Amino acid sequence: APSGRSAALRARMEERLLAARFRYINQQLYTSTSQEAAQLFQSDPEAFEIYHRGFAQQVGRWPENPVHRIVRYLRRRPASLVVADFGCGDCKIASSVKNKVHSFDLVPLSPLVTVCDMAKVPLAAESVDVAVFCLALMGTNLQEILEEANRVLKQGGTLMVAEVASRFEDIRAFVNAMTQLGFKSVSKDLSSAFFHLLEFAKTGPPRRRPAPGLRLRPCLYKRR
Ligand code: SAH
Repeated sequence: APSGRSAALRARMEERLLAARFRYINQQLYTSTSQEAAQLFQSDPEAFEIYHRGFAQQVGRWPENPVHRIVRYLRRRPASLVVADFGCGDCKIASSVKNKVHSFDLVPLSPLVTVCDMAKVPLAAESVDVAVFCLALMGTNLQEILEEANRVLKQGGTLMVAEVASRFEDIRAFVNAMTQLGFKSVSKDLSSAFFHLLEFAKTGPPRRRPAPGLRLRPCLYKRR
């Protein structure tokens, strides 16, 4: 029937528009500072919803979601460890482990979220055992964000970073820059074609010099 055909056409058009909006918002997030990202989502809450639908669709195509790898890692360690999840999205970590988890994001997708810019979280210095960035190192002020993680982590605490593999220009340079920020590399899991999982330990406060090599390419999804 023609009406059925036009409904299908309309649905397809709407799907394409949403996909285009997702790519646009995603690009904004990777090419602006975290303060600008906070402003974007505050002024346009719908943008956040569209972004999250698109994000979930993209990661849903991967053979494995890195967040599950991080949950498994946390379950192997004592449940008494305090965790901070930077850019928590829908709080998969907080809802999957027994640990105390502080979940931070710009907009609350779940009641477990504390709304804030991850460059400035409401936690005391050296109050956290594990800091997590799962596909969440988005702003161009990467250094400021990682310095904030360093501030809240206890000495010897763990930093877990899961990021899209293609974002790394040079892993060695990245890991090197991390040492300047007060993190030593503990393990690197490069086994997935889609994401890298890097584990660091806090060695001390960041050094004063800026950390060269601390660069990640924006993750710009292709049109499909
Ligand atoms: N870690 C979750 C979500 C990843 S999507 C998961 O793996 O499922 C990236 C998340 O980072 C989004 O929810 C986005 O809103 C959040 N984010 C991006 N910039 C942020 C900022 N400056 N402060 C807090 N959250 C931020």
